[in-house]
Amino acid sequence: MTELKPKTRGEIHRLQADDQQYLWHPFTQMKEWEKESPLIIQSGKGPFLIDVHGRRYLDGVSSLWVNLHGHRRKEIDRALISQIRKIAHTTLLGLSNIPAIELARKLLEIAPKGLARVFYSDNGSTAVEVALKMAFQYWQLKSRPRKRKFVSFINAYHGDTLGSVSVGGIDLFHRRFEPLLFETVRVPYPYCYRCHLSLSYPSCGVACLQEVETLIKTRHEELAAVIIEPRVQAAAGMVVSPPGYLQQIRKLCNEYQVLMIADEVATGFGRTGKMFACDHEEVVPDLMALAKGITGGYLPLAATLTTQSIYEAFLGNYSEFKTFFHGHSYTGNPLACAAALANLGIFEKEKTLSKIQSKIRRLSLALRSLDQLDHVGDIRQCGMMVGIELVKDKMSREPYPLTEKKGTLVAMEARNRGMLIRPLGNVVVLMPPLSTPHSVLARMVQILRSSIRKVIT
Ligand code: PLP
Repeated sequence: MTELKPKTRGEIHRLQADDQQYLWHPFTQMKEWEKESPLIIQSGKGPFLIDVHGRRYLDGVSSLWVNLHGHRRKEIDRALISQIRKIAHTTLLGLSNIPAIELARKLLEIAPKGLARVFYSDNGSTAVEVALKMAFQYWQLKSRPRKRKFVSFINAYHGDTLGSVSVGGIDLFHRRFEPLLFETVRVPYPYCYRCHLSLSYPSCGVACLQEVETLIKTRHEELAAVIIEPRVQAAAGMVVSPPGYLQQIRKLCNEYQVLMIADEVATGFGRTGKMFACDHEEVVPDLMALAKGITGGYLPLAATLTTQSIYEAFLGNYSEFKTFFHGHSYTGNPLACAAALANLGIFEKEKTLSKIQSKIRRLSLALRSLDQLDHVGDIRQCGMMVGIELVKDKMSREPYPLTEKKGTLVAMEARNRGMLIRPLGNVVVLMPPLSTPHSVLARMVQILRSSIRKVIT
């Protein structure tokens, strides 16, 4: 593979000026953005992103948690080229297409056993939106229309469409839109480092589960579903739940006839060390939302998986109007599905899931070197997902005010040292592609360490 030539100074200047004049970047205060020269990526290779100057950066957050096998994978490139010679897009409304069919079959092969149907959409938010609407309609079709409320977790993040914001719980992102949202019933996620009951795991016996149990027990008649980020509440700051917690939630949902929606958008496709986070606890959700890694970080695609019994509730004569009236223009896009099939092919060919086990251990070992740093309060890891919580005071766990932007400062320093990461408030996130070699993982942690030390002395 030949690398692209860097752009000339004139070209770079024009691109930067046009970016600042025409683009509006997501989750970005544009007033600040306009003051800085934007970093513009031109190409990528393996774990590296390469900018218009020809500078190489390690992709420390898998291009926002999507890339799995590195950039420019020939298997996925070829699958796309081969598909584009056939057709780029055709609708799934009233028609079908070959990659969408083959991918559905494949997804159900690797998904927790019991999931039987695949509904496509375009991104994590819509995968969640679909799951919420399916759960809501399901209970109406089962003649239990009172079951319409969702149990959601404090600090959850399920995306940015209004339905997924409704079940979200990150005040900073979501509070402003409150008048537009539907009401949910909130429960705390087990955030052991900042336990709201002031207890410690494991001596607490996961006491916080009691709150969820009481709620479900008393209000199940009005509950449609519980929506949970299994094992890791990602955008909350990589908050890892204690082992067994997910299974207990599944048990409660079974006991009280409440559906369980697992949002595997961030955790799916090997990120936690198993194909899906639910696999760690042998949990089969009623609905499962997938996106991000589904195409190996190539194209937008999402899927909501569900059981045969939920699917069957929607069957009937046309005149009964039990149809699930939902769909998007690009639902089941053949190019994206072809990329996803090639992505899953790499998992098989390279035995990705078994290979990452030693990488996960390597990462844990390297992360220990951060423990002694004065302002590292908590290091959380689940597979290849890592969150390092920075604190003002290690003893009292006092957080830095968000306005000090410590996470961002560390990320900027890491960039100077050749790695791109994106923090979540005071939590520095590391989520390397699964294909990252052992030595590069160690280098990434080294960069993190020196960046934290430089910013916080
Ligand atoms: N669900 C979870 C758990 C996520 O982490 C995210 C994004 O970070 C989403 C849903 C939304 O996905 P998208 O950004 O593709 O809409």
